Amino acid sequence: MQRRGVLFVISSPSGAGKSTIARKLIEADGHIQLSVSATTRPMRPGEVDGRDYHFVDVGHFKQMVADDEFLEWAHVFDHRYGTPRAPVESMLADGRDVLFDIDWQGAQQLYQQAAGDVVRVFILPPSMAELERRLRGRGTDADAVIESRMARAVAEIGHWDGYDYVLVNDDVERCFAQVRLILRAERLRRHRQLGLIGFTRKLMRGD
Ligand code: 5GP
Repeated sequence: MQRRGVLFVISSPSGAGKSTIARKLIEADGHIQLSVSATTRPMRPGEVDGRDYHFVDVGHFKQMVADDEFLEWAHVFDHRYGTPRAPVESMLADGRDVLFDIDWQGAQQLYQQAAGDVVRVFILPPSMAELERRLRGRGTDADAVIESRMARAVAEIGHWDGYDYVLVNDDVERCFAQVRLILRAERLRRHRQLGLIGFTRKLMRGD
């Protein structure tokens, strides 16, 4: 049965496991695709342009903003991040759901534009000590960057109440299973089942 696509947003402070869960979801579920954001932040080792982000300079980013190419955009950690509009529209037109790994500002902006289609999931770390351990374990950022990310994590966590679902990632498999359950249930919501009106009418007619 035809249904409206879900705009599935996952946010968390960096290091809480959101990227792992997003990657697992894309691998496990053939009906959802990742929105690849544009960013002005420098590429980290191991990242691939066009896969992890579209890495652009500030001038290019500003031009995209001026041309209304973003569904939403925000300053995060001193850099600009934005969701290109065209790929999202084409994924939805193809009947797919779209996964967004964006911050609370992006979640808020998407919700303002398409409240009925947006599902917002926030992932919390089990503790701040564990968050710091994960950030250091990653080994890609300098001490000062980690300190600033910890401070920003506190600020990000303050926005937990702007989400529909809030999960604690104390076990990545368990958290991932919960995310999948949320997506499955959200797909079944009545307002997303476009064929239901006709189908129930048919049933009531006794066809
Ligand atoms: P990172 O630099 O660690 O990849 O991401 C930093 C933060 O920016 C993360 O919280 C991530 O979710 C957020 N982010 C990534 N892309 C976007 C985007 O397109 N829009 C917004 N609002 N936030 C984004």
